[in-house]
Amino acid sequence: MTPSLQPVGVGWIEVITGCMFSGKTEELIRRIRRAQYARQRVAVFKPGIDNRYAEDSVGSHSGQRLRSFQIERAVEIPALVGDAEVVGIDEAQFLGPELVEIAERLANGGRRVIVAGLDMDYRGNPFEPLPQLLAVSEYITKNLAICMVCGNPADRSQRVVNRDARFLVGESDAYEARCRRCWDPNNFEPRQERLHLGQNLSET
Ligand code: ZN
Repeated sequence: MTPSLQPVGVGWIEVITGCMFSGKTEELIRRIRRAQYARQRVAVFKPGIDNRYAEDSVGSHSGQRLRSFQIERAVEIPALVGDAEVVGIDEAQFLGPELVEIAERLANGGRRVIVAGLDMDYRGNPFEPLPQLLAVSEYITKNLAICMVCGNPADRSQRVVNRDARFLVGESDAYEARCRRCWDPNNFEPRQERLHLGQNLSET
């Protein structure tokens, strides 16, 4: 949860996590915008590996955008934050274990740090550094998506193309949100039932 009573004079870490299509980036953008409305200084970062929308903005699947720095490594962040009171970091799963120490240092220095990223890869393994960030953060939001097969709450990213890379950057078509029951990391077939259901709906 985002704190309703905000600490004064200290920093903290908020983590927004969940599977693909759970609205992590939207939630990050919402929090950053609220800080901007309050005239707080913000700095937003995302790894350069994520070039799925614009060159220098954080974009969600819903089309919202936020100006951001593209970085290769987490160690670049301290030199770029300037006097920002609020620091947002998207796609944290690409920034590696060194992000944990950087986030801690920023929070220790009195900044509000908001980190968004995938908590699991498509095989269901914890995606570093999110497990470590969850451990050291004050506030955690785990978003659920909706299972694209059965409509239940979903916390897994199902890959629907058979490839080895741990994450397929900028290829949201290669994933579906799935619930525990419908998720199978060894089966790369896309949702059959939903297409079937869609046809029925359009016929009636
Ligand atoms: Zn399901």
